[in-house]
Amino acid sequence: STPVTYSAGLAAAAQRGIIIKGGGKLEALGNVKTVLFDKTGTVTTGRFTLRHLDVVGKTKSRKELLELLSIMEAPSSHPLSACLVAAAKKEGIVASTFSPTEHTILKGEGVTAYVDEERVYVGNERLFKRLDMYDISSQHIESARQWNDEGGTVGYIGIDGAKGRSIVGMFCVKDTVRDEAYDVIASLLRAGIEITMLTGDGDGAAQAVGKEIGLPSTSIQSQLLPEDKLHYVSGLKGSSANKHPSFSGKKNLILFIGDGVNDAAALAVADVGVAMGDGAALAMEMSDVTLMDSNLSKLLFSMKLGAKVITTVK
Ligand code: ADP
Ligand code: MG
Repeated sequence: STPVTYSAGLAAAAQRGIIIKGGGKLEALGNVKTVLFDKTGTVTTGRFTLRHLDVVGKTKSRKELLELLSIMEAPSSHPLSACLVAAAKKEGIVASTFSPTEHTILKGEGVTAYVDEERVYVGNERLFKRLDMYDISSQHIESARQWNDEGGTVGYIGIDGAKGRSIVGMFCVKDTVRDEAYDVIASLLRAGIEITMLTGDGDGAAQAVGKEIGLPSTSIQSQLLPEDKLHYVSGLKGSSANKHPSFSGKKNLILFIGDGVNDAAALAVADVGVAMGDGAALAMEMSDVTLMDSNLSKLLFSMKLGAKVITTVK
């Protein structure tokens, strides 16, 4: 293949909507041996739909659950929040007489707020186990397992109020794998690149997506907090043979690709951080490369282009 100079390479990339912060990073792309993928919004589209909503116990009706979801998720910017607000709206629930107070994001777990003088929680199994509120029937546990197997993200609604504390509803939201992800993963594997998918999502949903795109279960790390993603990347960097402070000579570089605020630290610490262009501004800020249209095929293009770059002797 014809070699390219730094400037020609950067221009060719820019023309395709790939913004690379300098020739050194373009060259680094050609020396990547490990690619770490975020799941939600990166391997998948991040555009969720509500698949299931079940009443748990007798405290709330389905309509009341939708109203609670709408109240709790409206202030949140998590990718799954918008679909819950939209689902409520679709069933005619728009505004509420109650607005949430002390609304708080629980990192990697969900959200909490006071609604009508009761503390409400919306979040994953991890949250309700931590609160010691994960007390549902075996039938509901079976539903959650089935929804996970479908690749869905399972959430719960819990209330801690005058009448006690319990889970009152459960739901499943799901987004879809990006069309090009299958080919991209297959090409990288064929090229001998090591792949791991890192996600804050539960293991069931993560394994289902991994299976769909052809990754072995050992290549998936689930239930990670943002700092866990960071530690995973820095741990790999530390264990690779290349600990040189400068890029020159490094041949086993680690690339992390993600889209969210929760990916910012991992993007910054990776040898090459790649941000999806429709993701969080902070992710782009912390990255070396931005794929403006979020097409994963452009990751392959960038890595191939990097391999063609002539190393200039300084
Ligand atoms: P990721 O974006 O990789 O899923 P996060 O740390 O943002 O990682 O979230 C981890 C998990 O916490 C989500 O998969 C979901 O189960 C739960 N979660 C986060 N935010 C919310 C929310 N606003 N409502 C319900 N569940 C949430
Ligand atoms: Mg993401």
